[in-house]
Amino acid sequence: MLKFGRDVTDNPAGREFSRGAGRCREIQPEITAKTSLVGVIGHPVAHSLSPQMHNASFASRGLDFAYVAMDVAPEDLGEAVRGLAVLGFAGFNVTIPHKEEILRFLDDLDESAERPGAVNTVVVEGGRTRGYNTDGFGFVESCREAGVDLAGESVLVLGAGGAAAAIADAVVSAGASSVVIANRTPERAEILVRRLRKGHAGAKIVACGADDLYDACRRSRVLVNTTPLGMRQGDPMPLPEEVLEDRVVCDIVYRRGGETPLLSVARERGAAVVDGRTMLLYQGVEAQRLWTGVEPDVEAMRAVLEEGG
Ligand code: NAP
Repeated sequence: MLKFGRDVTDNPAGREFSRGAGRCREIQPEITAKTSLVGVIGHPVAHSLSPQMHNASFASRGLDFAYVAMDVAPEDLGEAVRGLAVLGFAGFNVTIPHKEEILRFLDDLDESAERPGAVNTVVVEGGRTRGYNTDGFGFVESCREAGVDLAGESVLVLGAGGAAAAIADAVVSAGASSVVIANRTPERAEILVRRLRKGHAGAKIVACGADDLYDACRRSRVLVNTTPLGMRQGDPMPLPEEVLEDRVVCDIVYRRGGETPLLSVARERGAAVVDGRTMLLYQGVEAQRLWTGVEPDVEAMRAVLEEGG
């Protein structure tokens, strides 16, 4: 039997979760007084697949860890961060709407979080909290898996929120020749550009507003949607359809049961596409490495995401 986790095929009360080759079996965690706790804070978080994704890898690796989802309202963020450290959590993920606000409640920041000004992963050690950002790593890995090398590429990032900041930072670090940040609120794009330039002296990073989006897309080869457009049925397309031809089109939004309309149209127009689910996978893989120091079971985590959405 695994140190942590029990195969439910031995458990009549358990639910079978197998599909295809039966790689993805639901694991019932055995939580004891020694179990290390990790989780995600956000608002809302009930839809999150991260608990199943992380717990599948913990079980597969025989790690005595358990991952839970915790809904934290914005006004409670500071108390929640202190509380998790005091309660002995090994770390936690941070999602909407806390990724930027949490900076002021942490003891320390890794450069992956400091440059973009956004945190998606916290490691707690000796009661001290250190913020990291693994979203950018997740994005670059998702491109690599799709056969896209960002070195020397001209990249347009649509959106200027927490995800855009982490992605733009990682794209510059990966050697992109230029990055355009395009946002419906141009002031926010300009603030992000100023912040990123501080961390990447000499890099070509510029802002653009809605009026210049079409031309900026024409001049860029890799187009990345980081706005929530595409999550809901009936959302407008985040990028003009005519500019998608022969581009690399990345959508960090993902949908249950299929591609976003942006990726479907891009594919029809001959673009290479990069799906947001793979970014979700690899940001989690890197977070788990930080908490456990053990190489996660990527395929167990991927199977959960494929099964769940
Ligand atoms: P955020 O900080 O709230 O930023 C959202 C950005 O989208 C802002 O720039 C905002 O523009 C823009 N935006 C929002 N609604 C828009 C609309 N109707 N039209 C045009 N622009 C709009 O959010 P975030 O943390 O960056 O996350 C953004 C999305 O990425 C979410 O859907 C999230 O689920 C997804 N995400 C996916 C992954 C993954 O692993 N695949 C990881 C992180 C995030 P303004 O500045 O003008 O408000």
